[in-house]
Amino acid sequence: MELRYLGTGAAEGIPATFCACPVCTEAARRGGREIRTRSQALLDGKILIDFPPDAYAHYLTHRFDLPAVEHILVTHSHTDHFYPQEFELRSAGYVHEAPPLLRVYGNDKVGRVLFDALPEKEHEACRLVFRLIRPFERFEAGGYLVTPLTARHDPSEGCLFYLVERGDTALLYAHDTGFFPPETWEFLRSARPRLGLVSLDCTTAAFKEGTNHMGLPDVVLVREKLLEMGLAGEHTAFVLNHFSHNGGLLHQELCGKARDLGFAVAWDGLSVAF
Ligand SMILES: [Zn+2]
Ligand SMILES: [Zn+2]
Ligand SMILES: [Zn+2]
Repeated sequence: MELRYLGTGAAEGIPATFCACPVCTEAARRGGREIRTRSQALLDGKILIDFPPDAYAHYLTHRFDLPAVEHILVTHSHTDHFYPQEFELRSAGYVHEAPPLLRVYGNDKVGRVLFDALPEKEHEACRLVFRLIRPFERFEAGGYLVTPLTARHDPSEGCLFYLVERGDTALLYAHDTGFFPPETWEFLRSARPRLGLVSLDCTTAAFKEGTNHMGLPDVVLVREKLLEMGLAGEHTAFVLNHFSHNGGLLHQELCGKARDLGFAVAWDGLSVAF
């Protein structure tokens, strides 16, 4: 499999939309890998994970086949992960040829936000269906086996993250998770996926958090636990993602600290094969 990071920032991006703090100012000055749009990823060119307000910019910058995408896994309804207003642009008048049917997978809050932006009666014209998914209930999407896992994030909705399996390898895409709750650890212990890529939330960079997001001290514990459980090993790439200026570190500084702990740091455009 190949995961392409289209965007690697938290809600406000880096530089943050309206911020002139030292991190944002320096990131804007340096450009390149210091610039982070809102988090989104593409698996094997076929399955999108999340659909942020920067999805259109990602399409322009990274030149993947967005009209052909048939599956979007949505983690939760926060605007940096889900911006459904764009889906109206799939209807006649905005497209000259009807795109293939798009399945949008998400929790009930994601469904409500989608229905508010685009009433259900318009979904057929937009070539879109919403699939309500539930934690730990595996489903098939485009030839991949997908399991939604529970996250420790905004308790007002059941935030999810994803285990995606195909053949003898698996992706664990874990952003806006906090330290995983016990039921998710229990599931991983019994499902025993062979993890090729583990992509972890590092919103708070050097600072410990764990209750809503994670920082370096938290991801170290997740990594140790996955290794201990035998779900990760030599064959596993550990990548950090979903960063905020609140973490206080620029990409370059973060890379140094993360490397020493066994992690790579994602940037907008990074591809990881596993
Ligand atoms: Zn987020
Ligand atoms: Zn800032
Ligand atoms: Zn969130």
